[in-house]
Amino acid sequence: MRSILITGAASGIGAGIALELGRAGHHIIVSDLNPDAAGEVARQIREAGGSAEAVALDVTSDESVAATLAAISRPVEVLVNNAGLQHVARLEEFPMARWDFLVQVMLTGVARLTRAVLPGMRERGFGRIVNIGSIHSLVASPFKSAYVAAKHGLVGFSKVIALETADTDITINTICPSYVKTPLVDSQIADQARTRGISEAEVVSQVMLKPMPKGVFIGFDELAGVTAFLISPAARNMTGQTLVLDGGWTVQ
Ligand code: NAD
Repeated sequence: MRSILITGAASGIGAGIALELGRAGHHIIVSDLNPDAAGEVARQIREAGGSAEAVALDVTSDESVAATLAAISRPVEVLVNNAGLQHVARLEEFPMARWDFLVQVMLTGVARLTRAVLPGMRERGFGRIVNIGSIHSLVASPFKSAYVAAKHGLVGFSKVIALETADTDITINTICPSYVKTPLVDSQIADQARTRGISEAEVVSQVMLKPMPKGVFIGFDELAGVTAFLISPAARNMTGQTLVLDGGWTVQ
């Protein structure tokens, strides 16, 4: 059983992966900007018989990363880079500070935390890094320039780190889901309805589910299952890869 630090684990996909991997017997370090909500996820894991601790972590801050790594009870064997956010606007109307912030959280923040845990992983001769990318690591949608740029960048970043860690038992891979029903997507439904001038039901059927031939949202169990595979011995030589959970979006 591994000790697994998950960022942005107080909500949505991060919480879903935390709960499932906690049920599987791993020790989960539930980290998030929101420590109270992280504490609640850790409490649920313990209540279900698992092992978990919660910690405040802002991936955009060197100080916060250092404080988190000093505060946790076990070394990080597995890092799940999941924290993220979205902003939907045409580039001309996209505030540059907001653009930069999305890249800070979803790309620079991943580099910051990965950089901080790698020396320990090297010392112990084992590490697994799982990034939560997106279908937008591979294809684009309008009005999401910062998000798509950050998520594409994440794939390039992972390839480089795969090469830099190839001399030891460390892997880094990126899971790329299409839409998963989380608070992040719920808020986009309203934003997109406004930006596109269509109803919220039309955003779900015509924007979100239409490009997915399977026509359903991706589930937390799928994200957790693929993460479990990536940290299993069967995936020890899989590194620098993208694993695409898109209901057939990109094969059309
Ligand atoms: P969510 O909004 O439910 O959860 C995101 C979490 O990240 C929140 O708890 C938030 O507090 C945390 N967070 C934000 N900024 C942070 C920071 N600076 N430091 C630490 N934590 C921070 O979102 P979600 O839908 O679960 O998204 C999780 C990840 O999955 C994101 O990287 C997102 O891009 C990716 N993703 C989501 C979908 C989807 O359809 N929901 C699809 C593809 C990829």
